[in-house]
Amino acid sequence: MRESWQERFAGTPAVLKSEKRRKTVVPVLDFEIGGNEFVTMAGPCSVETEFQLMATALHVRRCGARVLRGGAFKPRSSPYSFQGLGIEGLKLLATARQETGLAIVTEVMSECDVPLVAEYADILQIGSRSMENYSLLEAAARSGRPLLLKRGMVATIADLLQAAEVVFENGNAQVILCERGIRTFETAMRNTFDAAGIALLKQISHLPVIADPSHASGCRELVPALARIAVAAGADGLLVEVHPHPDKAWSDGEQSLDFAGFDEMMASLDPYLKLRANGLDEPAGDRLAEAFG
Ligand code: PEP
Ligand code: MN
Repeated sequence: MRESWQERFAGTPAVLKSEKRRKTVVPVLDFEIGGNEFVTMAGPCSVETEFQLMATALHVRRCGARVLRGGAFKPRSSPYSFQGLGIEGLKLLATARQETGLAIVTEVMSECDVPLVAEYADILQIGSRSMENYSLLEAAARSGRPLLLKRGMVATIADLLQAAEVVFENGNAQVILCERGIRTFETAMRNTFDAAGIALLKQISHLPVIADPSHASGCRELVPALARIAVAAGADGLLVEVHPHPDKAWSDGEQSLDFAGFDEMMASLDPYLKLRANGLDEPAGDRLAEAFG
């Protein structure tokens, strides 16, 4: 007989759905993540210049984004690649928030930087390379800021939930899970997008789940399709890379949408978002949730 989800994920009780906790909603500025609204977080991979960041912020806000993304501390695979502007980047993000009203999500890579990044960011991003850095998770949890927890590239769903459990254990229940693609034998794309993982997480965990189609595909032509799949799988939002001139981006240009591409992607989500608003994805989810709970 098949092991039940409850047994399989028994090691992470705090982040599983229960009678007491069916849904976590994370308030950020004047909106919520994990509630009724589908929340788009968009912006460049890295903060580069004031022009690049402001132009992108203004554009994505006009198209409905609520959160501006942008890395100031960059976890690059190569030590020879651009490592981010650091505090300069954080300051530019703060200016963009002031000018646009968008909330800010940005990565914190080191335990020592948590107080600094938490001063500027509304949401702290824990990158895939850091998902299992438990001292970073503890420090970030204690900052009291909501955390965007990205799934490690070789992390199972259980590993991701385990990392979220560590955040809970350190007194922070404001965790947003992020599926950003995993490493598999398939090398045609940068990563393999685990859409089933999103559907599963939505059924077993009360936490909001968002999708990052940019890192999942590594290719801007695939981003809109993955974004639509994410909506259909039940995601609560998206994290998408957008740049005024992707071909000139200092990092991840090949997977960044330009402004027109972002507009098209957002427009293509509309019919899917309408189905979501009508709750058409719910019956099957509820049946499974009942079986699970
Ligand atoms: C990013 O969001 O730019 C990033 C580095 O993401 P990941 O940790 O998923 O690779
Ligand atoms: Mn990136």
